[in-house]
Amino acid sequence: MTDQKKIENVIIIGGGPAGYTAALYTARANLEPLVFEGFQWGGQLQNTTDVENYPGYPEGIMGPEMMNQFRAQAERFGTRFVTDDVDRVELSDGDVQKVYLGDEEHLAKAVILAMGAEPRRLGVPGEMELGGRGVSTCGVCDGAFFKDQKVIVIGGGDSAMEDAIFISKYASELTVVNRRDEFRASKIMHGRAGDQPNIDFKTPFVAEEFVAGDDGKLGHVRLRNAETDEKEDLVADGAFIAIGHIPKSEIVADQIDTDEDGYIVAQPGSTRTNLAGVFAVGDVVDHTYRQAVTAAGTGCMGALDAEWFLRDTPPSPEAHWMRGGEPTEIAPTPSA
Ligand code: NDP
Repeated sequence: MTDQKKIENVIIIGGGPAGYTAALYTARANLEPLVFEGFQWGGQLQNTTDVENYPGYPEGIMGPEMMNQFRAQAERFGTRFVTDDVDRVELSDGDVQKVYLGDEEHLAKAVILAMGAEPRRLGVPGEMELGGRGVSTCGVCDGAFFKDQKVIVIGGGDSAMEDAIFISKYASELTVVNRRDEFRASKIMHGRAGDQPNIDFKTPFVAEEFVAGDDGKLGHVRLRNAETDEKEDLVADGAFIAIGHIPKSEIVADQIDTDEDGYIVAQPGSTRTNLAGVFAVGDVVDHTYRQAVTAAGTGCMGALDAEWFLRDTPPSPEAHWMRGGEPTEIAPTPSA
């Protein structure tokens, strides 16, 4: 008798809002998903404190607790979890997908990529240690905690401008620190930030260290003038690092279409990639929104796309067309 290896219906890689939502939906569709949630499961929310912008939690909820609940809800319908990081994958175009933990091989008819993204870091002292105690990488998430306080935003792109404009509604004083005199941000965003009466720009400076005050929270940021090397301490209750994001697409980078920044490319209005049976959801595809609620939304889309692929029951051509895509053939389910 030959040893027939089990072929899963669907493997989901990633344990953040996108991955767990994809798990919930595929589990409820009786597809018995297997989730590789990562050793540090929970995604970026695992490093967040209060989440006040996820609908349905009027009092807010702690990020890790919310991820616990996402996970428990997916588990309730039979999701299986592997709490480890995938080492490599062998993706195919419509054939069996292969996922490896070391030498251990897992096969699936469909795979949903939900590895997320991570904020680019400065890599300076205090940055990680004071995370959640004044230093943040998410203005939309944490800006409101700095009402009438002094805040620094580090970065000169559109994200930094957007964060600055948002946080300036709460902060008393806000300083945008950029390493060059020129800003990468679009003129319009830079201009809007400049129009805010409580926003100042400080250039060309780099942040060299985040230093705690007596209360253990951020007290000041040590800056260095990038031209003169002169040091300066800027008092701050909050510091937001907005210097871009890095999609966690390394394990698939040379096997699937990604853009110049490494984000996986999905078809417009869909989670399909250039490979039949491979779907991508959440921040690993998302340049722009990067919110838990949008990640969860695309996780749901990925689950439905995978289900349609596996059952060969695409939505009506009209529905597909209305989502902005050309009607396309859906690949047949590969034989197990
Ligand atoms: P960007 O790559 O556009 O900008 C990153 C900024 O961070 C640059 O000013 C860069 O400086 C600076 N930076 C990078 N590394 C460091 C470092 N180690 N130390 C100090 N500064 C550093 O990233 P964004 O996240 O701002 O934007 C990403 C994309 O998303 C862009 O296409 C942007 O237009 C888009 N976006 C659009 C928005 C909108 O339209 N509402 C809102 C937010 C983003 P330098 O210029 O010197 O490299």
